[in-house]
Parts: sequence; structure tokens; C-alpha cells
Amino acid sequence: MARVAVTGAAGYLASWVVKLLLEQGHTVHGTVRSLQDGRKLAHLQRLSAEHPGRLVLFEADLLKAQGFDAAMEGCSAVVHTASPYRLGTSADPERELIAPAVEGTRHVLEAVNRTASVQRVVVTSSIVAMYGDSVELQARPGQALAETDVNRTSTAQSNAYALSKTRAEALAWDMQARQNRWSMVSVHPGAIFGPSLSQRDDATSVQLLRQFLDGSFRQGVPELWLGTVDVRDVAQAHVSAALLPGASGRYIVVGESLRLLEIAQRLRQSHPNRSARLPTKEVPKWLMWLIAPAAGMARRYVRHNVGHPMQFDTTRSRTELGVAYRPALDTLGEHVEQLVADGLAPA
Ligand code: NAP
Repeated sequence: MARVAVTGAAGYLASWVVKLLLEQGHTVHGTVRSLQDGRKLAHLQRLSAEHPGRLVLFEADLLKAQGFDAAMEGCSAVVHTASPYRLGTSADPERELIAPAVEGTRHVLEAVNRTASVQRVVVTSSIVAMYGDSVELQARPGQALAETDVNRTSTAQSNAYALSKTRAEALAWDMQARQNRWSMVSVHPGAIFGPSLSQRDDATSVQLLRQFLDGSFRQGVPELWLGTVDVRDVAQAHVSAALLPGASGRYIVVGESLRLLEIAQRLRQSHPNRSARLPTKEVPKWLMWLIAPAAGMARRYVRHNVGHPMQFDTTRSRTELGVAYRPALDTLGEHVEQLVADGLAPA
């Protein structure tokens, strides 16, 4: 059985990584920003009670160098998921997104370099580290993103989150190449949905689904494609990436490519009683361009992304990591059930 460190253990995705590792009999060292925040830790305390002695929590902040060494001691693998995930415009993208992602990755990997037991590092990246705007893929066969693609176009102004993930991944590969003890795998999920293990409502995935349910998009949605994936499938990809000796390189982790309107259709199918608040149409691109600033979108983003389909080549994650992707209908339906059960969406 392995001993695995997971950074950002209380987060939406990381909680599932922790749960799967514990269920498979492994021991987990999880880092959290604060050991005092009972609201953020309640679900981890439940997991700890179910697997006595096999989940140990440590305090570590991405912006501080100390903290990660203690968590990694004796671990053979480190899964680095912690990174701020926020979409839309930011008043100070450097401070809110880029510095924690990049400096955080540096701090985590410097601790890995000091910890002789670590043989494998898994970095949670994103598909947005592979492309800037979907228009870039229009000339491709099947408009498909590939694992050789790198985002060369996002800026702090156009898409600070994408830039944060691109720079953090590049730094990680650079640090990996400077030594020869630990190997690295980067996991690149699309937009993650599916039931959360916690009652937290601050994860962007949870907020996005709540916006569909509360009628925020009732007037219509832009014709935008999202690579969607179930949080449990992403977690499984991380566990395989951490433990399979043969895992290597970058893995796209996407279940289905869906337009926003198709996401609404799936929600209508799983929960017909919610139809009244779900969007039924797409806003024409010219109108979207006009209203973009009021909708919190840059006009450049509309021009380069709306109306440009995207697909994803997931051959490697299926064959090498063994991911069998759940249908989005199940993912979205079960996510709604969880939100209702936890009082985060009206029954
Ligand atoms: P989340 O629930 O917001 O998790 C983010 C995690 O990062 C939390 O554990 C958070 O800690 C931690 N974090 C943020 N700033 C930190 C700091 N300064 N110091 C220490 N920890 C910090 O979001 P998520 O969706 O699970 O995201 C997890 C990872 O998946 C991120 O790397 C994200 O970029 C990536 N990803 C997510 C999606 C998606 O659709 N959700 C898609 C692709 C990739 P606290 O618990 O203390 O807040």
C-alpha cells in the first residue's frame, strides 16, 4: 500500500482523490490551508473516521515555502491539485491566480526535491493549459485538442486562469527535467461536474451548476462548447497517474464535449421539474458580442470562442489510465441530487 500526499485536500476534486486512495487501502497525507476551518474540513473528518489512522492532515499555504515538507515525509507519490480556480475577470490576476498557481507549484516541487521518498508527482493541470481560444482548433481534423498542444495565447488580461495553469505546468515540467529521481504526470481535465463530498459552495464547478439551476441563464446561453467530465473520473485518473509505473506525460481527461445548451438539455432530462429555469435557446453571436461586457465577458473572448466547436482526443486517458468516462447525463443528474440533499439548491 502506498503513502500519497495530496495538496489542497479539502477541495472539490482533491476530496474525491483522497476518498479513492483511502478506499483502495492507501494512506493519505493531505494539505489544507487551515486546520482550524471546521466548515472546510467536516467531510475529511468523516473520511478519516471511516478509515482510521490513514488520513493525516497538514497545514500548508501555496504562497509559503514551508509546510509541504512535513506532509510529504515518507510518501512515494505527491498529487498536487491545490491552485485557485476562478473564471471571469479579476481585479488583480497576478495576486489572485497566477502567483498562487506558479509559486505554489514551485514551493511544492522544491519540497519534493528535498523529500527522498518521492518517486512520482502528479500535477493537476487543465485543458486550458493546452489552448487559448477554441478558434485555434478549427483547422484541425475533427477540431480536436491533442496532448501535444500548448496554450500560447492566453494573457493575464484575456484569461488569467488559463495563464496560471499554463505557467504552472510549464514550471513543473522544467523542474522535473532538472533532476532524475521523480517522474511526473500532468492531468488535464475539462470542466468538472458531479457530486461534491462537501457542502462547500465556493468551488467554481459547484457555482456554475447552481447558476444553471437558479435561472441565471434562463434568457439564453452563448454557443460555447465545454469539455465536461465527472469529478469521480478525474479523481480516478489522478490515482492511476500516481500509482501506475507506466503512466507518463500529459493526459487529456474529458468525458463529453457539450454546448452549454446541451448541458441544460441534460439537466432537463434528468430533472424535468427544473425546466422552467433552464435556458432553451442560444443567444446569437452578434448579440452576445454586443452584450458581452454587461455579461462579464470580453468581446475578444466572444469572437474567438463562441460558435467554434471543440473535441478532445482522450485515447491515452482511456487506454493508459483506464478511465471509463461516465455519461454527462448521470454526472449532472447526480450533482443536482447532491446539491439538493445538502441544501445548496431548492428541492
Ligand atoms: P476548489 O474546490 O476551489 O479547489 C481548489 C483548491 O486549491 C482548494 O483545496 C484550495 O484550498 C486550494 N488553494 C487555493 N489557493 C490556495 C492557497 N493559497 N494555498 C493553499 N491552497 C490553496 O476547485 P477544484 O475544482 O477542486 O480545483 C482543483 C484543481 O483542479 C485546481 O488545480 C484546478 O485548476 C483544477 N481544475 C479544475 C477544473 C474544474 O472544472 N473544477 C477543471 C480543470 C482543472 P482551500 O480548501 O483552503 O480553499
